[in-house]
Amino acid sequence: MHVNVDGIGSSRPSSPRGVPRPGPRSPHPLEKILATVGPHSCPGQYNFHCHTTCSDGTLTPEELATQATELGLEHLAITDHHSHQAYGLAQQTIEALVRHGHAVPKLWSGTEINGILHTCLVHILALGYGDAAPLMCYTQGQAAHGEALGAAAVVAAIHRAGGLAILAHPARYRLDFRVLIREAQRLGFDGVETWYDYDMMPQWQASPWICHQVDQLRQDLGLLATCGTDTHSTDLRGR
Ligand SMILES: [Zn+2]
Ligand SMILES: [Zn+2]
Repeated sequence: MHVNVDGIGSSRPSSPRGVPRPGPRSPHPLEKILATVGPHSCPGQYNFHCHTTCSDGTLTPEELATQATELGLEHLAITDHHSHQAYGLAQQTIEALVRHGHAVPKLWSGTEINGILHTCLVHILALGYGDAAPLMCYTQGQAAHGEALGAAAVVAAIHRAGGLAILAHPARYRLDFRVLIREAQRLGFDGVETWYDYDMMPQWQASPWICHQVDQLRQDLGLLATCGTDTHSTDLRGR
């Protein structure tokens, strides 16, 4: 299945093992948007992490796209677990809303993928890929097995697909987020989900202390930042 996101596809050079080659490369179109992400970008302006009925969410892709439009979101990625089925359905809704004169969010492709990072099971967001084919073994509704479950393999597949690889909610794992973020940077991840509501407030709010620590470290390591609500419920303003 080809996902139409501004013709992104093979712009991102990567070595056979998936670690980006050093030297100049053409920036991903999402990078300039992610450069403007801050603690208050979510939930009203950007949302790069949410779920629909295509995985374990409650909203249908159509309902989510409609709600995102009502909220006035500018950029949106739906990141169902091991599925990007929602993209096409949400895009159809957004196109219908445009025809009715609504200002709509720009929809980016997305999937949340399990991977093993430094012996720890983590979630990796694939964002803004143009060619879904390289992600095939990660979008069949369940986690991959064996070698494909390694974070390096996941990142390589995301890069082949023309997307950005983001370490999701880094402070929600068995291992310390500092260890995981450093290891992610070493493996060629592009960014870290920096602004996240670990306390699950009714109205999304970046958890102050932890998110600022994450933000400082990811800046030191030259990684991009994203924000997302990780919504599974009926309200895109909360978890
Ligand atoms: Zn997750
Ligand atoms: Zn999630």
